[in-house]
Amino acid sequence: MHRKIALEEHFMTPGFEAMSASFTSLMDQAAQDRLAAQLADFDDERIRRMERAGIERMILSQTAPGVQGEKDTGRAIEMARIANDFLASQIARHPDQFSGFAALAMQSPQAAVDELERTVSQFGFCGAMVNGHTLGQYYDDRAFDVVWERLQALDLPLYLHPISAFVQPEVFRGHPELQGAIWGWGVETGSHALRMLFGGVFDRFPRLKVILGHMGEGLPFMRWRFDSRFAVYSHGITLERKPSEYFGSNIFITTSGVCSNATLMAAIGEMGEDAVMFSVDYPYESIDLACDFIDQAPLEDAVRQKVCADNARRLMKL
Ligand code: MN
Repeated sequence: MHRKIALEEHFMTPGFEAMSASFTSLMDQAAQDRLAAQLADFDDERIRRMERAGIERMILSQTAPGVQGEKDTGRAIEMARIANDFLASQIARHPDQFSGFAALAMQSPQAAVDELERTVSQFGFCGAMVNGHTLGQYYDDRAFDVVWERLQALDLPLYLHPISAFVQPEVFRGHPELQGAIWGWGVETGSHALRMLFGGVFDRFPRLKVILGHMGEGLPFMRWRFDSRFAVYSHGITLERKPSEYFGSNIFITTSGVCSNATLMAAIGEMGEDAVMFSVDYPYESIDLACDFIDQAPLEDAVRQKVCADNARRLMKL
């Protein structure tokens, strides 16, 4: 059993439950109740499972959609503060086992910057997690440059977590099973990351680091094609590097929710062994299953240690 750090691990701030109802309402009542208990727990099952499976630290984040779905900007700013204060109070009770990603109200980029600064300086948070677009606004927009500027200055990452598309694409019509975790969230989130890449965010902020979950939402496997087709269909866009070169330097990935050896090996091949990090996606995925997967994956020990903990430790300055 290897010592692990896990960084896509969620909790629920009291009062935020109704916002996530769209994710859970299709489950039966017993499953909903169990999930609610796991999201609210910081002391019992979570820590017991961590210790049993060798997770020495979880970086915790408010579960989706969190403040990203709030239409009132003032309320979103207040909610981010409430969620972050609550998380800090839980970390303070278990400082050796929990760290935090800040919730940020991207409805106001300047408020997001201020809250990031507050949570890093006051609470020692190690970056931020935002749940995709904010009411249909994507973060390649120059309005968000102030956020990237501050993250780059702090040298801390942003974890871009999935959310549903703002408007469901026609291709999903009649197929609700494809809109969410099976496929649609990955398409949405991978596309969002590509908007940032092709929108020049990483040229403007060359040391900015963005983390994608779910084995990079599939993007690592298309790196070669991004270069090949961008050379032909650039639409007048110029980038300082080839599209593929932003992977592993600006874009990092976690293994959350994909426990496949073949996929892991390919992802490390595309991203480099310094840019892939273990995660579970608790409580939506099983700690035992994810930990067994990474403990037994056909990796050299030095590479396993990077994926399990060292890469996260370096990126989040743990
Ligand atoms: Mn998640």
